[in-house]
Amino acid sequence: TIHVPAAVEAVCRHLAGAGFQVYLVGGCVRDSLLGRPPRDWDVATDARPPQVLDLFPEARPTGIAFGTVTVPLQGLDPGDGVEVTTFRIDLEYRDAHRPGRVAFADRLEPDLARRDFTINALAYEPLRGELVDLARGLDDLRRGVIRAVGDPFARLHEDPLRSLRAVRLVAELGFRIDPRTRQAARALAGRLPLLSGERIRDELLRLLVGPHAGRALREASWLGLLSAAIPELAPARAFPQGKPNARTLLEHVIQTVSACPPDPVVRLAALLHDVAKPQTAQRQWAPSGRERLTFYGHDVEGAVMAGDVCQRLKLDRRRREAVVSLVRWHMVSGSDLGKKAVRRWMAQAPRLEDEETGEAWVRRLIALRRADHLASGHGPENPFADRLEQMLAEVAAEASAFTVHDLAVDGHRVMELLGIGPGPEVGRALSWLLDRVLDDPSLNTPERLAGLIRELPPAHHGQG
Ligand code: ATP
Ligand code: MG
Repeated sequence: TIHVPAAVEAVCRHLAGAGFQVYLVGGCVRDSLLGRPPRDWDVATDARPPQVLDLFPEARPTGIAFGTVTVPLQGLDPGDGVEVTTFRIDLEYRDAHRPGRVAFADRLEPDLARRDFTINALAYEPLRGELVDLARGLDDLRRGVIRAVGDPFARLHEDPLRSLRAVRLVAELGFRIDPRTRQAARALAGRLPLLSGERIRDELLRLLVGPHAGRALREASWLGLLSAAIPELAPARAFPQGKPNARTLLEHVIQTVSACPPDPVVRLAALLHDVAKPQTAQRQWAPSGRERLTFYGHDVEGAVMAGDVCQRLKLDRRRREAVVSLVRWHMVSGSDLGKKAVRRWMAQAPRLEDEETGEAWVRRLIALRRADHLASGHGPENPFADRLEQMLAEVAAEASAFTVHDLAVDGHRVMELLGIGPGPEVGRALSWLLDRVLDDPSLNTPERLAGLIRELPPAHHGQG
Protein backbone atom coordinates (compact mmCIF):
# COMPACT_ATOMS: atom_id res chain seq x y z
CA THR A 1 0.00 0.00 0.00
CA ILE A 2 0.93 3.60 -0.45
CA HIS A 3 1.43 6.05 2.35
CA VAL A 4 -0.48 9.21 1.45
CA PRO A 5 0.16 12.37 3.52
CA ALA A 6 -2.88 13.37 5.56
CA ALA A 7 -3.15 16.73 3.80
CA VAL A 8 -3.28 15.05 0.39
CA GLU A 9 -5.80 12.52 1.60
CA ALA A 10 -7.99 15.35 2.91
CA VAL A 11 -8.09 16.92 -0.55
CA CYS A 12 -9.11 13.55 -2.00
CA ARG A 13 -11.84 13.07 0.62
CA HIS A 14 -13.25 16.47 -0.09
CA LEU A 15 -13.51 15.73 -3.82
CA ALA A 16 -14.93 12.26 -3.21
CA GLY A 17 -17.42 13.68 -0.71
CA ALA A 18 -18.79 15.90 -3.49
CA GLY A 19 -19.32 12.78 -5.62
CA PHE A 20 -16.22 12.93 -7.81
CA GLN A 21 -13.72 10.21 -8.69
CA VAL A 22 -10.22 10.71 -7.30
CA TYR A 23 -6.96 8.99 -8.16
CA LEU A 24 -3.34 9.68 -7.43
CA VAL A 25 -1.45 9.40 -10.71
CA GLY A 26 1.98 9.55 -12.29
CA GLY A 27 5.29 10.02 -10.51
CA CYS A 28 3.89 9.90 -6.98
CA VAL A 29 2.42 6.40 -7.41
CA ARG A 30 5.55 5.13 -9.16
CA ASP A 31 7.90 6.59 -6.54
CA SER A 32 5.80 5.47 -3.56
CA LEU A 33 5.76 1.89 -4.84
CA LEU A 34 9.54 2.08 -5.24
CA GLY A 35 9.90 3.40 -1.69
CA ARG A 36 11.21 6.72 -2.93
CA PRO A 37 9.87 10.04 -1.65
CA PRO A 38 7.62 11.52 -4.39
CA ARG A 39 8.50 14.94 -5.76
CA ASP A 40 4.88 16.02 -5.75
CA TRP A 41 1.36 14.61 -5.48
CA ASP A 42 -0.85 14.69 -8.55
CA VAL A 43 -4.56 14.00 -8.35
CA ALA A 44 -6.71 13.11 -11.37
CA THR A 45 -10.48 13.52 -11.18
CA ASP A 46 -13.60 13.80 -13.30
CA ALA A 47 -14.40 17.14 -11.65
CA ARG A 48 -13.96 20.02 -14.10
CA PRO A 49 -11.69 22.92 -13.16
CA PRO A 50 -14.56 25.28 -12.15
CA GLN A 51 -15.95 22.56 -9.88
CA VAL A 52 -12.53 22.03 -8.29
CA LEU A 53 -12.21 25.79 -7.77
CA ASP A 54 -15.65 25.84 -6.11
CA LEU A 55 -14.69 23.06 -3.72
CA PHE A 56 -11.38 24.65 -2.74
CA PRO A 57 -11.71 28.43 -2.40
CA GLU A 58 -7.95 28.79 -1.81
CA ALA A 59 -7.10 26.88 -5.01
CA ARG A 60 -5.50 28.59 -8.02
CA PRO A 61 -5.79 27.70 -11.68
CA THR A 62 -2.20 26.95 -12.67
CA GLY A 63 -2.68 25.27 -16.02
CA ILE A 64 -6.32 25.91 -16.78
CA ALA A 65 -5.93 25.14 -20.53
CA PHE A 66 -4.85 21.64 -19.52
CA GLY A 67 -7.34 21.38 -16.68
CA THR A 68 -4.91 21.82 -13.78
CA VAL A 69 -5.81 23.52 -10.51
CA THR A 70 -3.35 23.74 -7.62
CA VAL A 71 -4.70 23.37 -4.10
CA PRO A 72 -2.17 24.97 -1.73
CA LEU A 73 -1.41 22.95 1.37
CA GLN A 74 0.39 24.02 4.48
CA GLY A 75 3.29 21.93 5.62
CA LEU A 76 3.23 19.54 2.68
CA ASP A 77 6.68 18.24 1.98
CA PRO A 78 7.69 18.21 -0.82
CA GLY A 79 5.99 20.78 -2.99
CA ASP A 80 3.63 23.52 -2.02
CA GLY A 81 0.36 22.03 -3.09
CA VAL A 82 -1.55 19.26 -4.76
CA GLU A 83 -2.14 19.53 -8.48
CA VAL A 84 -5.68 18.48 -9.29
CA THR A 85 -6.11 17.74 -12.98
CA THR A 86 -9.28 16.79 -14.79
CA PHE A 87 -9.14 13.48 -16.70
CA ARG A 88 -8.18 14.36 -20.24
CA ILE A 89 -7.14 13.11 -23.63
CA ASP A 90 -4.61 14.88 -25.81
CA LEU A 91 -6.25 15.57 -29.15
CA GLU A 92 -3.30 16.55 -31.29
CA TYR A 93 0.33 17.49 -30.99
CA ARG A 94 1.25 20.86 -32.43
CA ASP A 95 4.87 21.17 -33.62
CA ALA A 96 5.75 18.28 -31.33
CA HIS A 97 5.71 20.87 -28.54
CA ARG A 98 2.77 20.42 -26.32
CA PRO A 99 -0.64 18.95 -26.90
CA GLY A 100 -2.41 21.44 -29.13
CA ARG A 101 -5.81 20.86 -27.61
CA VAL A 102 -7.03 18.69 -24.81
CA ALA A 103 -10.46 17.25 -24.25
CA PHE A 104 -11.74 16.45 -20.81
CA ALA A 105 -12.81 12.91 -20.13
CA ASP A 106 -15.21 11.40 -17.62
CA ARG A 107 -13.21 8.28 -16.96
CA LEU A 108 -9.71 7.43 -15.78
CA GLU A 109 -8.89 4.89 -18.52
CA PRO A 110 -8.24 7.23 -21.47
CA ASP A 111 -6.26 9.53 -19.16
CA LEU A 112 -3.92 6.66 -18.30
CA ALA A 113 -3.65 5.60 -21.95
CA ARG A 114 -2.22 8.98 -23.00
CA ARG A 115 0.65 8.74 -20.48
CA ASP A 116 4.21 8.12 -21.60
CA PHE A 117 5.47 4.97 -19.83
CA THR A 118 3.77 2.05 -18.16
CA ILE A 119 5.44 2.86 -14.83
CA ASN A 120 3.97 6.38 -15.10
CA ALA A 121 0.52 5.10 -16.01
CA LEU A 122 -0.30 3.62 -12.61
CA ALA A 123 -3.15 5.14 -10.62
CA TYR A 124 -4.05 4.71 -6.97
CA GLU A 125 -7.46 5.26 -5.42
CA PRO A 126 -6.43 6.51 -1.96
CA LEU A 127 -9.74 6.08 -0.14
CA ARG A 128 -10.32 2.47 -1.12
CA GLY A 129 -6.60 1.74 -1.30
CA GLU A 130 -6.90 0.33 -4.79
CA LEU A 131 -4.22 0.25 -7.49
CA VAL A 132 -5.26 0.65 -11.14
CA ASP A 133 -2.76 -0.89 -13.52
CA LEU A 134 -4.07 -0.98 -17.08
CA ALA A 135 -0.71 -0.96 -18.85
CA ARG A 136 1.01 -3.62 -16.72
CA GLY A 137 3.11 -0.95 -15.12
CA LEU A 138 3.57 -2.91 -11.91
CA ASP A 139 5.43 -5.71 -13.73
CA ASP A 140 7.71 -3.19 -15.39
CA LEU A 141 8.26 -1.42 -12.09
CA ARG A 142 9.31 -4.71 -10.47
CA ARG A 143 11.62 -5.60 -13.34
CA GLY A 144 13.04 -2.12 -13.73
CA VAL A 145 11.83 -1.52 -17.27
CA ILE A 146 10.85 1.70 -19.01
CA ARG A 147 8.30 0.85 -21.70
CA ALA A 148 6.11 3.17 -23.74
CA VAL A 149 2.36 2.82 -23.28
CA GLY A 150 0.98 1.45 -26.56
CA ASP A 151 2.96 1.56 -29.82
CA PRO A 152 6.38 3.04 -29.02
CA PHE A 153 6.92 4.49 -32.51
CA ALA A 154 3.61 6.32 -32.47
CA ARG A 155 4.07 7.55 -28.90
CA LEU A 156 7.64 8.79 -29.27
CA HIS A 157 6.79 10.29 -32.65
CA GLU A 158 3.90 12.39 -31.39
CA ASP A 159 6.02 13.81 -28.56
CA PRO A 160 9.81 13.43 -28.95
CA LEU A 161 10.32 14.65 -25.40
CA ARG A 162 9.29 11.16 -24.26
CA SER A 163 12.60 9.74 -25.54
CA LEU A 164 14.48 12.20 -23.39
CA ARG A 165 12.18 11.46 -20.46
CA ALA A 166 13.06 7.78 -20.87
CA VAL A 167 16.79 8.42 -20.44
CA ARG A 168 16.03 10.87 -17.61
CA LEU A 169 14.19 8.04 -15.85
CA VAL A 170 17.21 5.80 -16.46
CA ALA A 171 19.31 8.42 -14.65
CA GLU A 172 16.89 8.71 -11.73
CA LEU A 173 15.83 5.09 -11.28
CA GLY A 174 18.65 3.07 -12.81
CA PHE A 175 16.08 1.22 -14.95
CA ARG A 176 16.67 -0.03 -18.49
CA ILE A 177 14.61 0.87 -21.53
CA ASP A 178 12.61 -1.91 -23.17
CA PRO A 179 14.14 -2.95 -26.55
CA ARG A 180 11.20 -1.85 -28.72
CA THR A 181 10.94 1.50 -26.99
CA ARG A 182 14.69 1.84 -27.39
CA GLN A 183 14.48 1.05 -31.09
CA ALA A 184 11.82 3.70 -31.53
CA ALA A 185 13.84 6.28 -29.59
CA ARG A 186 16.87 5.61 -31.75
CA ALA A 187 14.95 5.77 -34.99
CA LEU A 188 13.23 9.01 -33.97
CA ALA A 189 16.15 10.83 -32.32
CA GLY A 190 16.30 13.25 -35.25
CA ARG A 191 12.98 14.73 -34.12
CA LEU A 192 14.39 16.01 -30.83
CA PRO A 193 15.31 19.45 -32.26
CA LEU A 194 11.58 20.03 -32.85
CA LEU A 195 11.23 20.55 -29.11
CA SER A 196 11.56 23.89 -27.39
CA GLY A 197 14.86 24.51 -25.59
CA GLU A 198 13.04 24.80 -22.26
CA ARG A 199 11.54 21.30 -22.45
CA ILE A 200 14.92 19.78 -23.35
CA ARG A 201 16.60 21.77 -20.57
CA ASP A 202 14.29 20.56 -17.81
CA GLU A 203 14.75 16.90 -18.67
CA LEU A 204 18.48 17.22 -19.38
CA LEU A 205 19.22 18.90 -16.05
CA ARG A 206 17.25 16.25 -14.19
CA LEU A 207 19.13 13.57 -16.10
CA LEU A 208 22.48 15.13 -15.21
CA VAL A 209 21.87 15.12 -11.46
CA GLY A 210 20.41 11.62 -11.35
CA PRO A 211 22.33 8.94 -9.42
CA HIS A 212 22.74 6.94 -12.65
CA ALA A 213 23.66 9.90 -14.88
CA GLY A 214 26.65 8.08 -16.37
CA ARG A 215 24.58 5.16 -17.57
CA ALA A 216 21.88 7.50 -18.83
CA LEU A 217 24.38 9.58 -20.83
CA ARG A 218 25.86 6.47 -22.44
CA GLU A 219 22.36 5.37 -23.34
CA ALA A 220 21.44 8.84 -24.63
CA SER A 221 24.58 8.81 -26.75
CA TRP A 222 23.85 5.37 -28.18
CA LEU A 223 20.29 6.39 -28.99
CA GLY A 224 21.53 9.51 -30.78
CA LEU A 225 19.65 11.71 -28.33
CA LEU A 226 22.72 13.37 -26.86
CA SER A 227 24.03 14.71 -30.15
CA ALA A 228 20.50 15.59 -31.22
CA ALA A 229 20.10 17.69 -28.07
CA ILE A 230 23.67 19.09 -28.13
CA PRO A 231 25.19 18.77 -31.63
CA GLU A 232 28.43 20.29 -30.31
CA LEU A 233 29.07 17.01 -28.49
CA ALA A 234 28.81 14.86 -31.62
CA PRO A 235 32.56 14.94 -32.51
CA ALA A 236 33.46 13.77 -28.97
CA ARG A 237 32.02 10.31 -29.67
CA ALA A 238 34.78 9.42 -32.09
CA PHE A 239 37.54 11.61 -30.74
CA PRO A 240 40.37 9.55 -29.23
CA GLN A 241 41.16 10.36 -25.65
CA GLY A 242 44.15 8.19 -24.91
CA LYS A 243 43.47 8.14 -21.18
CA PRO A 244 43.84 4.78 -19.49
CA ASN A 245 40.20 4.51 -18.53
CA ALA A 246 38.52 6.34 -21.41
CA ARG A 247 38.98 5.54 -25.07
CA THR A 248 36.94 8.44 -26.38
CA LEU A 249 36.53 12.03 -25.33
CA LEU A 250 32.83 11.43 -24.75
CA GLU A 251 33.61 8.62 -22.32
CA HIS A 252 35.99 10.93 -20.45
CA VAL A 253 33.30 13.61 -20.35
CA ILE A 254 30.71 11.16 -19.03
CA GLN A 255 33.10 9.98 -16.31
CA THR A 256 33.76 13.59 -15.36
CA VAL A 257 30.03 14.28 -15.05
CA SER A 258 29.58 11.18 -12.87
CA ALA A 259 32.44 12.24 -10.57
CA CYS A 260 30.88 15.68 -9.93
CA PRO A 261 28.51 16.39 -7.04
CA PRO A 262 24.85 16.33 -8.18
CA ASP A 263 24.63 20.06 -8.89
CA PRO A 264 23.10 20.84 -12.30
CA VAL A 265 25.46 23.76 -12.98
CA VAL A 266 28.66 21.82 -12.25
CA ARG A 267 27.41 18.78 -14.10
CA LEU A 268 26.41 20.76 -17.18
CA ALA A 269 29.83 22.43 -17.10
CA ALA A 270 31.41 18.98 -16.83
CA LEU A 271 29.40 17.80 -19.83
CA LEU A 272 30.71 20.76 -21.83
CA HIS A 273 34.17 21.21 -20.34
CA ASP A 274 36.09 19.71 -23.28
CA VAL A 275 33.54 20.52 -25.97
CA ALA A 276 36.07 22.43 -28.09
CA LYS A 277 38.84 19.83 -27.83
CA PRO A 278 38.23 18.13 -31.19
CA GLN A 279 38.38 21.42 -33.07
CA THR A 280 41.43 22.78 -31.25
CA ALA A 281 43.51 19.62 -31.51
CA GLN A 282 46.88 19.88 -33.24
CA ARG A 283 48.86 16.76 -34.11
CA GLN A 284 52.49 17.00 -33.09
CA TRP A 285 55.40 14.61 -33.10
CA ALA A 286 57.03 14.32 -29.72
CA PRO A 287 60.82 13.77 -29.58
CA SER A 288 60.11 10.13 -28.78
CA GLY A 289 58.68 9.88 -32.28
CA ARG A 290 55.17 9.24 -30.99
CA GLU A 291 52.35 11.39 -32.26
CA ARG A 292 50.78 13.59 -29.65
CA LEU A 293 47.73 15.80 -29.58
CA THR A 294 48.11 19.29 -28.24
CA PHE A 295 45.24 21.69 -27.66
CA TYR A 296 45.29 25.40 -28.16
CA GLY A 297 42.63 27.41 -26.43
CA HIS A 298 40.01 24.73 -25.95
CA ASP A 299 39.10 26.43 -22.67
CA VAL A 300 38.41 29.75 -24.40
CA GLU A 301 36.66 28.28 -27.43
CA GLY A 302 34.85 25.80 -25.23
CA ALA A 303 33.47 28.64 -23.11
CA VAL A 304 32.02 30.28 -26.21
CA MET A 305 30.45 27.01 -27.34
CA ALA A 306 29.10 26.33 -23.85
CA GLY A 307 27.46 29.75 -23.96
CA ASP A 308 25.75 28.85 -27.25
CA VAL A 309 24.49 25.58 -25.80
CA CYS A 310 23.14 27.29 -22.66
CA GLN A 311 21.45 29.92 -24.79
CA ARG A 312 19.74 27.31 -26.91
CA LEU A 313 18.64 25.48 -23.77
CA LYS A 314 17.22 28.75 -22.42
CA LEU A 315 19.21 28.59 -19.20
CA ASP A 316 18.74 31.75 -17.16
CA ARG A 317 21.55 34.27 -17.37
CA ARG A 318 23.12 33.47 -14.01
CA ARG A 319 23.34 29.75 -14.56
CA ARG A 320 24.60 30.32 -18.10
CA GLU A 321 27.38 32.59 -16.87
CA ALA A 322 28.34 30.13 -14.15
CA VAL A 323 28.59 27.28 -16.67
CA VAL A 324 30.49 29.36 -19.22
CA SER A 325 33.07 30.59 -16.73
CA LEU A 326 33.56 27.10 -15.28
CA VAL A 327 34.43 25.85 -18.76
CA ARG A 328 36.61 28.92 -19.26
CA TRP A 329 38.65 28.37 -16.09
CA HIS A 330 38.66 24.59 -15.74
CA MET A 331 42.27 24.51 -16.94
CA VAL A 332 43.61 27.32 -14.74
CA SER A 333 46.97 26.30 -13.38
CA GLY A 334 48.69 26.78 -10.06
CA SER A 335 51.14 29.43 -11.16
CA ASP A 336 48.29 31.78 -12.19
CA LEU A 337 46.65 31.51 -8.86
CA GLY A 338 47.20 33.33 -5.63
CA LYS A 339 44.97 34.68 -2.93
CA LYS A 340 44.51 37.85 -4.96
CA ALA A 341 42.98 35.85 -7.78
CA VAL A 342 40.77 33.95 -5.35
CA ARG A 343 39.51 37.25 -3.84
CA ARG A 344 38.72 38.54 -7.32
CA TRP A 345 36.72 35.37 -7.98
CA MET A 346 34.91 35.88 -4.66
CA ALA A 347 34.03 39.39 -5.84
CA GLN A 348 33.26 38.73 -9.49
CA ALA A 349 32.45 35.09 -10.15
CA PRO A 350 28.88 34.47 -11.36
CA ARG A 351 26.45 33.90 -8.52
CA LEU A 352 23.13 32.11 -8.51
CA GLU A 353 20.11 33.80 -6.93
CA ASP A 354 20.79 33.20 -3.25
CA GLU A 355 24.58 33.39 -3.33
CA GLU A 356 26.14 36.50 -1.80
CA THR A 357 29.70 35.98 -2.98
CA GLY A 358 31.45 34.02 -5.66
CA GLU A 359 32.49 31.41 -3.09
CA ALA A 360 29.95 28.86 -4.33
CA TRP A 361 31.29 29.27 -7.85
CA VAL A 362 34.87 28.69 -6.68
CA ARG A 363 33.67 25.54 -4.91
CA ARG A 364 32.09 24.42 -8.19
CA LEU A 365 35.38 25.01 -9.96
CA ILE A 366 37.20 22.91 -7.37
CA ALA A 367 34.60 20.15 -7.73
CA LEU A 368 34.91 20.17 -11.52
CA ARG A 369 38.67 20.14 -11.26
CA ARG A 370 38.62 17.15 -8.91
CA ALA A 371 36.20 15.28 -11.14
CA ASP A 372 38.22 15.97 -14.30
CA HIS A 373 41.37 14.80 -12.52
CA LEU A 374 39.77 11.58 -11.26
CA ALA A 375 38.20 10.86 -14.65
CA SER A 376 41.61 11.30 -16.23
CA GLY A 377 42.81 8.27 -14.31
CA HIS A 378 44.76 10.09 -11.63
CA GLY A 379 44.45 9.08 -8.04
CA PRO A 380 42.32 10.93 -5.52
CA GLU A 381 45.18 13.17 -4.42
CA ASN A 382 44.90 16.53 -6.13
CA PRO A 383 47.39 19.12 -4.86
CA PHE A 384 46.01 21.91 -7.02
CA ALA A 385 42.44 21.52 -5.80
CA ASP A 386 43.66 21.13 -2.21
CA ARG A 387 45.64 24.36 -2.41
CA LEU A 388 42.72 26.22 -3.96
CA GLU A 389 40.46 24.97 -1.19
CA GLN A 390 42.98 26.07 1.40
CA MET A 391 43.25 29.56 -0.12
CA LEU A 392 39.49 29.81 -0.32
CA ALA A 393 39.20 29.04 3.39
CA GLU A 394 41.81 31.66 4.22
CA VAL A 395 40.23 34.29 2.00
CA ALA A 396 36.76 33.62 3.40
CA ALA A 397 38.14 34.07 6.93
CA GLU A 398 39.78 37.43 6.18
CA ALA A 399 36.57 39.44 6.44
CA SER A 400 37.72 41.29 3.37
CA ALA A 401 35.42 43.38 1.19
CA PHE A 402 34.07 41.59 -1.87
CA THR A 403 31.60 44.26 -2.97
CA VAL A 404 31.66 48.07 -2.69
CA HIS A 405 29.03 47.71 0.03
CA ASP A 406 31.59 45.91 2.21
CA LEU A 407 34.06 48.82 2.00
CA ALA A 408 34.84 50.78 5.16
CA VAL A 409 33.82 53.99 3.37
CA ASP A 410 30.55 54.66 1.55
CA GLY A 411 29.55 56.97 -1.28
CA HIS A 412 28.89 59.95 1.01
CA ARG A 413 32.32 59.70 2.54
CA VAL A 414 33.91 59.41 -0.93
CA MET A 415 32.11 62.60 -2.01
CA GLU A 416 33.40 64.37 1.10
CA LEU A 417 36.96 63.18 0.61
CA LEU A 418 37.02 64.10 -3.08
CA GLY A 419 34.98 67.25 -2.67
CA ILE A 420 32.54 66.18 -5.36
CA GLY A 421 28.79 65.74 -5.66
CA PRO A 422 26.77 62.68 -6.67
CA GLY A 423 27.54 61.17 -10.05
CA PRO A 424 29.26 58.30 -11.80
CA GLU A 425 32.64 59.38 -10.42
CA VAL A 426 31.59 58.17 -6.96
CA GLY A 427 30.97 54.67 -8.22
CA ARG A 428 34.24 54.64 -10.13
CA ALA A 429 36.15 55.70 -7.02
CA LEU A 430 34.47 52.98 -4.95
CA SER A 431 35.32 50.35 -7.57
CA TRP A 432 38.90 51.50 -7.62
CA LEU A 433 39.09 51.25 -3.83
CA LEU A 434 37.55 47.78 -3.93
CA ASP A 435 40.13 46.71 -6.46
CA ARG A 436 42.93 47.83 -4.13
CA VAL A 437 41.28 46.11 -1.15
CA LEU A 438 41.01 42.86 -3.12
CA ASP A 439 44.80 42.95 -3.44
CA ASP A 440 45.28 43.86 0.21
CA PRO A 441 42.34 43.44 2.62
CA SER A 442 44.21 45.25 5.43
CA LEU A 443 43.52 48.51 3.53
CA ASN A 444 39.83 48.22 4.38
CA THR A 445 39.65 50.70 7.29
CA PRO A 446 38.13 54.21 7.15
CA GLU A 447 41.52 55.81 7.76
CA ARG A 448 43.52 53.82 5.26
CA LEU A 449 40.90 54.19 2.55
CA ALA A 450 40.78 57.96 3.18
CA GLY A 451 44.54 58.06 2.69
CA LEU A 452 44.42 55.77 -0.31
CA ILE A 453 41.81 57.78 -2.16
CA ARG A 454 44.38 60.56 -2.67
CA GLU A 455 46.15 58.18 -5.02
CA LEU A 456 43.05 57.79 -7.18
CA PRO A 457 44.41 58.09 -10.75
CA PRO A 458 43.66 61.49 -12.30
CA ALA A 459 41.50 59.98 -15.01
CA HIS A 460 39.08 59.19 -12.23
CA HIS A 461 38.76 62.82 -11.07
CA GLY A 462 35.57 64.01 -12.72
CA GLN A 463 34.37 67.57 -12.52
CA GLY A 464 31.96 66.69 -9.71
P1 ATP B 1 7.95 13.62 -11.00
O1 ATP B 1 8.31 14.88 -11.69
O2 ATP B 1 6.96 13.78 -9.91
O3 ATP B 1 9.13 12.76 -10.64
P2 ATP B 1 7.38 12.38 -13.43
O4 ATP B 1 8.83 12.12 -13.49
O5 ATP B 1 6.56 11.19 -13.78
O6 ATP B 1 7.05 12.82 -12.02
P3 ATP B 1 6.12 14.82 -14.49
O7 ATP B 1 6.76 15.68 -15.50
O8 ATP B 1 5.78 15.38 -13.18
O9 ATP B 1 7.08 13.56 -14.42
O10 ATP B 1 4.80 14.22 -15.16
C1 ATP B 1 3.78 13.67 -14.38
C2 ATP B 1 3.07 12.54 -15.17
O11 ATP B 1 2.50 13.07 -16.37
C3 ATP B 1 4.02 11.47 -15.64
O12 ATP B 1 4.20 10.50 -14.64
C4 ATP B 1 3.30 10.92 -16.85
O13 ATP B 1 2.26 10.06 -16.46
C5 ATP B 1 2.67 12.16 -17.44
N1 ATP B 1 3.50 12.81 -18.46
C6 ATP B 1 4.38 13.81 -18.26
N2 ATP B 1 4.96 14.19 -19.40
C7 ATP B 1 4.42 13.41 -20.37
C8 ATP B 1 4.59 13.33 -21.78
N3 ATP B 1 5.46 14.11 -22.42
N4 ATP B 1 3.84 12.42 -22.45
C9 ATP B 1 2.96 11.63 -21.81
N5 ATP B 1 2.76 11.66 -20.49
C10 ATP B 1 3.48 12.54 -19.77
MG1 MG C 1 5.28 15.00 -11.07
